[in-house]
Amino acid sequence: MNKRLVLWDIDQTLIDLRGTGREWYAQVLPEVTGVAFTGMPGFFGRTELAITSELLTLHGVQPDDETVRKMWAGLVAAAERAVPTLPTRGIALPGAEAALSALSGEVVQTLVTGNLREISWHKLTAFGLHEHLDFEIGGYGSLSAHRPDLVAHAVSLAGARHSPFAPDAVVVIGDTPHDIDAALAHGALAVGVATGRFDEATLRDAGAHVVFADLSDTPAVVEAVLG
Ligand SMILES: [Mg+2]
Repeated sequence: MNKRLVLWDIDQTLIDLRGTGREWYAQVLPEVTGVAFTGMPGFFGRTELAITSELLTLHGVQPDDETVRKMWAGLVAAAERAVPTLPTRGIALPGAEAALSALSGEVVQTLVTGNLREISWHKLTAFGLHEHLDFEIGGYGSLSAHRPDLVAHAVSLAGARHSPFAPDAVVVIGDTPHDIDAALAHGALAVGVATGRFDEATLRDAGAHVVFADLSDTPAVVEAVLG
Protein backbone atom coordinates (compact mmCIF):
# COMPACT_ATOMS: atom_id res chain seq x y z
CA MET A 1 0.00 0.00 0.00
CA ASN A 2 1.17 3.49 -0.81
CA LYS A 3 2.20 5.66 2.08
CA ARG A 4 0.13 8.61 3.14
CA LEU A 5 1.06 12.14 2.16
CA VAL A 6 1.17 14.76 4.90
CA LEU A 7 0.99 18.44 3.91
CA TRP A 8 2.15 20.68 6.73
CA ASP A 9 1.38 24.35 7.16
CA ILE A 10 4.26 26.35 8.70
CA ASP A 11 3.21 29.51 10.56
CA GLN A 12 1.33 28.90 13.80
CA THR A 13 1.38 25.16 13.03
CA LEU A 14 5.08 24.23 13.25
CA ILE A 15 6.56 27.55 14.35
CA ASP A 16 5.47 30.87 15.77
CA LEU A 17 7.32 33.81 14.25
CA ARG A 18 4.57 36.36 14.64
CA GLY A 19 5.64 39.84 13.62
CA THR A 20 8.46 38.88 11.28
CA GLY A 21 6.34 38.80 8.11
CA ARG A 22 5.09 42.30 8.78
CA GLU A 23 8.60 43.48 9.54
CA TRP A 24 9.96 42.06 6.27
CA TYR A 25 7.15 43.60 4.22
CA ALA A 26 7.66 46.96 5.95
CA GLN A 27 11.35 46.84 4.97
CA VAL A 28 10.89 45.66 1.41
CA LEU A 29 7.90 47.74 0.26
CA PRO A 30 9.73 51.13 0.36
CA GLU A 31 12.90 49.55 -1.10
CA VAL A 32 11.02 48.19 -4.12
CA THR A 33 8.30 50.81 -4.69
CA GLY A 34 9.50 53.97 -2.95
CA VAL A 35 6.17 54.05 -1.09
CA ALA A 36 6.14 54.23 2.73
CA PHE A 37 4.65 51.22 4.51
CA THR A 38 1.40 52.03 6.30
CA GLY A 39 0.06 48.60 7.27
CA MET A 40 -0.55 44.98 6.36
CA PRO A 41 -3.57 43.18 5.00
CA GLY A 42 -4.65 40.05 6.93
CA PHE A 43 -1.99 37.32 7.02
CA PHE A 44 -3.49 34.26 8.61
CA GLY A 45 -3.83 31.28 6.30
CA ARG A 46 -3.35 33.37 3.16
CA THR A 47 -0.81 32.88 0.38
CA GLU A 48 2.10 35.19 -0.37
CA LEU A 49 0.61 35.96 -3.79
CA ALA A 50 -2.64 37.08 -2.15
CA ILE A 51 -0.85 39.09 0.55
CA THR A 52 1.66 40.80 -1.74
CA SER A 53 -0.97 41.73 -4.32
CA GLU A 54 -3.29 43.17 -1.69
CA LEU A 55 -0.46 45.00 0.09
CA LEU A 56 0.61 46.69 -3.15
CA THR A 57 -2.97 47.64 -4.02
CA LEU A 58 -3.51 49.06 -0.52
CA HIS A 59 -0.44 51.26 -1.04
CA GLY A 60 -1.59 52.46 -4.45
CA VAL A 61 0.89 50.32 -6.40
CA GLN A 62 -0.20 48.16 -9.34
CA PRO A 63 0.54 44.49 -8.42
CA ASP A 64 2.06 43.59 -11.78
CA ASP A 65 4.29 40.53 -12.17
CA GLU A 66 7.54 42.47 -12.14
CA THR A 67 6.74 44.37 -8.93
CA VAL A 68 5.51 41.21 -7.21
CA ARG A 69 8.68 39.39 -8.24
CA LYS A 70 10.88 42.21 -6.90
CA MET A 71 8.94 42.21 -3.63
CA TRP A 72 9.52 38.47 -3.29
CA ALA A 73 13.24 38.75 -4.02
CA GLY A 74 13.40 41.36 -1.24
CA LEU A 75 11.39 39.21 1.18
CA VAL A 76 13.61 36.18 0.52
CA ALA A 77 16.72 38.27 1.15
CA ALA A 78 15.21 39.66 4.38
CA ALA A 79 14.33 36.14 5.57
CA GLU A 80 17.81 34.88 4.75
CA ARG A 81 19.43 37.73 6.68
CA ALA A 82 17.11 37.02 9.63
CA VAL A 83 17.91 33.29 9.96
CA PRO A 84 20.49 33.67 12.77
CA THR A 85 18.04 35.73 14.85
CA LEU A 86 14.88 33.69 14.20
CA PRO A 87 15.43 31.16 17.02
CA THR A 88 15.34 34.03 19.52
CA ARG A 89 12.53 35.91 17.72
CA GLY A 90 10.14 32.99 17.76
CA ILE A 91 9.62 29.38 18.81
CA ALA A 92 9.16 25.93 17.37
CA LEU A 93 5.67 25.01 18.56
CA PRO A 94 5.29 22.24 21.15
CA GLY A 95 5.54 18.76 19.63
CA ALA A 96 6.36 19.97 16.12
CA GLU A 97 9.79 18.37 16.00
CA ALA A 98 8.59 15.16 17.66
CA ALA A 99 5.64 14.82 15.26
CA LEU A 100 7.83 15.34 12.17
CA SER A 101 10.36 12.80 13.47
CA ALA A 102 7.76 10.23 14.52
CA LEU A 103 6.08 10.35 11.09
CA SER A 104 9.35 10.20 9.20
CA GLY A 105 9.57 6.92 7.29
CA GLU A 106 5.88 6.23 7.95
CA VAL A 107 4.55 8.83 5.52
CA VAL A 108 5.75 11.27 2.86
CA GLN A 109 5.97 14.75 4.39
CA THR A 110 6.02 18.08 2.62
CA LEU A 111 4.51 21.57 2.94
CA VAL A 112 1.41 23.39 1.88
CA THR A 113 2.06 26.91 3.01
CA GLY A 114 1.33 30.48 2.03
CA ASN A 115 5.08 31.11 2.32
CA LEU A 116 7.43 31.21 -0.63
CA ARG A 117 9.57 28.10 -0.93
CA GLU A 118 12.84 29.88 -0.07
CA ILE A 119 11.27 31.57 2.95
CA SER A 120 9.84 28.20 4.08
CA TRP A 121 13.36 26.81 3.93
CA HIS A 122 14.87 29.71 5.91
CA LYS A 123 12.15 29.63 8.57
CA LEU A 124 12.30 25.87 9.14
CA THR A 125 16.08 25.45 8.97
CA ALA A 126 16.36 28.17 11.63
CA PHE A 127 14.56 25.79 14.01
CA GLY A 128 16.02 22.53 12.68
CA LEU A 129 12.58 21.44 11.44
CA HIS A 130 13.54 20.94 7.78
CA GLU A 131 15.02 17.46 8.01
CA HIS A 132 11.99 15.24 7.45
CA LEU A 133 10.29 17.39 4.82
CA ASP A 134 10.70 17.09 1.06
CA PHE A 135 10.71 20.76 0.00
CA GLU A 136 10.67 19.88 -3.70
CA ILE A 137 7.13 18.51 -3.74
CA GLY A 138 5.41 21.22 -1.69
CA GLY A 139 2.70 23.75 -2.56
CA TYR A 140 3.89 27.31 -1.93
CA GLY A 141 2.38 30.78 -1.82
CA SER A 142 3.85 31.95 -5.13
CA LEU A 143 1.59 29.56 -7.01
CA SER A 144 -1.88 30.98 -6.38
CA ALA A 145 -3.92 33.26 -4.16
CA HIS A 146 -6.29 30.32 -3.72
CA ARG A 147 -5.01 27.89 -1.10
CA PRO A 148 -6.72 24.73 -2.45
CA ASP A 149 -4.55 25.13 -5.60
CA LEU A 150 -1.49 24.63 -3.39
CA VAL A 151 -2.82 21.28 -2.16
CA ALA A 152 -3.52 20.13 -5.72
CA HIS A 153 -0.02 21.12 -6.76
CA ALA A 154 1.69 19.28 -3.90
CA VAL A 155 -0.44 16.16 -4.38
CA SER A 156 0.47 16.12 -8.05
CA LEU A 157 4.21 16.63 -7.47
CA ALA A 158 4.27 14.04 -4.69
CA GLY A 159 2.36 11.57 -6.86
CA ALA A 160 4.87 12.01 -9.67
CA ARG A 161 7.80 11.47 -7.33
CA HIS A 162 6.29 8.48 -5.47
CA SER A 163 3.08 6.97 -6.83
CA PRO A 164 -0.30 8.69 -7.05
CA PHE A 165 -1.94 9.55 -3.72
CA ALA A 166 -5.70 9.00 -3.49
CA PRO A 167 -7.52 11.92 -1.80
CA ASP A 168 -8.12 9.86 1.34
CA ALA A 169 -4.38 9.16 1.60
CA VAL A 170 -3.68 12.90 1.92
CA VAL A 171 -3.58 14.70 5.27
CA VAL A 172 -3.46 18.49 5.63
CA ILE A 173 -2.34 19.89 9.00
CA GLY A 174 -2.83 23.58 9.71
CA ASP A 175 -4.06 26.24 12.10
CA THR A 176 -6.66 28.19 10.11
CA PRO A 177 -10.03 27.60 8.45
CA HIS A 178 -8.21 28.26 5.13
CA ASP A 179 -6.07 25.16 5.75
CA ILE A 180 -9.18 23.14 6.56
CA ASP A 181 -11.06 24.42 3.47
CA ALA A 182 -8.10 23.55 1.25
CA ALA A 183 -8.05 19.99 2.65
CA LEU A 184 -11.80 19.50 2.27
CA ALA A 185 -11.74 20.84 -1.30
CA HIS A 186 -9.57 17.82 -2.16
CA GLY A 187 -11.28 15.20 -0.03
CA ALA A 188 -8.20 15.09 2.21
CA LEU A 189 -8.15 14.48 5.94
CA ALA A 190 -8.15 17.88 7.68
CA VAL A 191 -6.25 18.15 10.94
CA GLY A 192 -6.57 21.44 12.80
CA VAL A 193 -4.09 22.69 15.39
CA ALA A 194 -5.28 25.54 17.62
CA THR A 195 -1.87 27.20 18.05
CA GLY A 196 -2.79 30.20 15.93
CA ARG A 197 -5.58 32.73 16.01
CA PHE A 198 -8.36 30.13 15.80
CA ASP A 199 -9.57 27.99 18.69
CA GLU A 200 -10.49 24.31 18.55
CA ALA A 201 -14.24 24.98 18.19
CA THR A 202 -13.66 27.29 15.21
CA LEU A 203 -11.49 24.71 13.46
CA ARG A 204 -14.06 21.99 14.13
CA ASP A 205 -16.83 24.25 12.77
CA ALA A 206 -14.70 24.80 9.66
CA GLY A 207 -14.92 21.03 9.11
CA ALA A 208 -11.66 19.70 10.55
CA HIS A 209 -11.88 15.93 11.08
CA VAL A 210 -9.46 16.04 14.00
CA VAL A 211 -8.46 19.02 16.13
CA PHE A 212 -5.62 19.36 18.60
CA ALA A 213 -4.86 22.14 21.08
CA ASP A 214 -1.24 21.74 19.94
CA LEU A 215 1.00 18.97 18.56
CA SER A 216 2.44 17.91 21.90
CA ASP A 217 0.64 14.53 22.11
CA THR A 218 2.86 12.75 19.57
CA PRO A 219 1.10 9.34 19.64
CA ALA A 220 -2.27 11.05 19.08
CA VAL A 221 -0.89 13.05 16.15
CA VAL A 222 0.62 9.91 14.60
CA GLU A 223 -2.63 8.04 15.09
CA ALA A 224 -4.67 10.84 13.50
CA VAL A 225 -2.37 10.88 10.48
CA LEU A 226 -2.10 7.12 10.01
CA GLY A 227 -5.81 6.57 10.69
MG1 LIG B 1 -0.63 28.87 9.49
